[in-house]
Amino acid sequence: MKLLVTGAAGFLGSHLTDRLLAEDHSVVGMDNFLTGSERNLAHLAGHPRFEFRRHNVAEFIPWKGPLDGIFHFASPASPVDYLQLPIQTLKVGSLGTHNCLGLARATGARFFLASTSEVYGDPLVHPQPESYWGNVNPIGVRGVYDEAKRFAEAITMAYHRFHGLETRIVRIFNTYGPRMRPHDGRVVSNFIVQALQGEPITIYGDGSQTRSFCYVSDLIDGIYRLFRSERSEPLNVGNPGEFTVGELAELVRGMTGSNSQLQYRPLPQDDPRVRKPDITAARALLGWEPVVPLREGLVETIDYFRKVLGG
Ligand code: NAD
Ligand code: UDP
Repeated sequence: MKLLVTGAAGFLGSHLTDRLLAEDHSVVGMDNFLTGSERNLAHLAGHPRFEFRRHNVAEFIPWKGPLDGIFHFASPASPVDYLQLPIQTLKVGSLGTHNCLGLARATGARFFLASTSEVYGDPLVHPQPESYWGNVNPIGVRGVYDEAKRFAEAITMAYHRFHGLETRIVRIFNTYGPRMRPHDGRVVSNFIVQALQGEPITIYGDGSQTRSFCYVSDLIDGIYRLFRSERSEPLNVGNPGEFTVGELAELVRGMTGSNSQLQYRPLPQDDPRVRKPDITAARALLGWEPVVPLREGLVETIDYFRKVLGG
């Protein structure tokens, strides 16, 4: 198949591109390097089935020739990024999704949206099944990301229902692994980098808030299975293993052998208190579940950051 990946120079987009090429597809990667890096695609230079196009997907996407699938992954994803890039975040989630849907319709491609557990906001139902509508502050600082993704889901379902477009929506829960930017601000990369550099480990709030961390290879496998499935409604893909932020800090400190102090900082506005995917549907529909436990995934990720920071 000929496939387009938006956000291909990002953390997840680059891993997805690798997987699609490994499955013998041809891939056009598209990115404007807003939060991504050429380094994430450097290993694909000269690959006969890979092509890169620099483009802002919030603008009309010019295209010639056939296209079988579009994976729309372009969007700032770290809270630090989307708080600094509120308008770009809203535009890529709304206008960017609309452009990708239009291109999918024009070419007959299947459309795949990278949505997020943030559509559940600060959830009042725990763990979160796909049927939960969420608890989002639309005008809070995180609203730029949450509402862009909720709009993206809504317009994707509208294209599916009104135009009969083939669509898939994944709700991704906190995913980590190699190729995250050392300073992108997300908790796993922050803690590892701080621990390796002997800097204070910054815990926001009292560290009792929870997240459920999925290793990148597990996530990409779930995504590829979902793309090939018949499911048009949103599907949770994530690891239900739930940890407090404080537990993660201790784990990272222990695994890196670091002497870093724990430093407590104010909790950001609207920071979800808990988050854990209900993956009953993914298990049943895709025969998928995560196989990499947190400790194992952290070994790989710590190794990666050691190399990046050392080099
Ligand atoms: P990332 O910041 O590493 O990658 C995003 C990529 O999109 C970057 O390369 C960036 O330059 C590109 N981009 C942003 N705006 C663009 C635009 N207008 N035009 C072209 N390219 C643009 O983030 P990530 O973690 O790889 O996230 C990828 C996708 O997965 C995002 O849509 C995000 O919302 C979603 N997601 C990720 C997670 C996670 O835990 N990593 C969780 C939920 C959802
Ligand atoms: N967090 C933290 N210290 C950091 C970065 C994040 O305590 O240096 C917390 C953050 O407040 C949140 C959790 O870790 O409760 C996960 O944050 P992240 O930015 O990774 O993503 P989120 O799940 O909030 O989208």
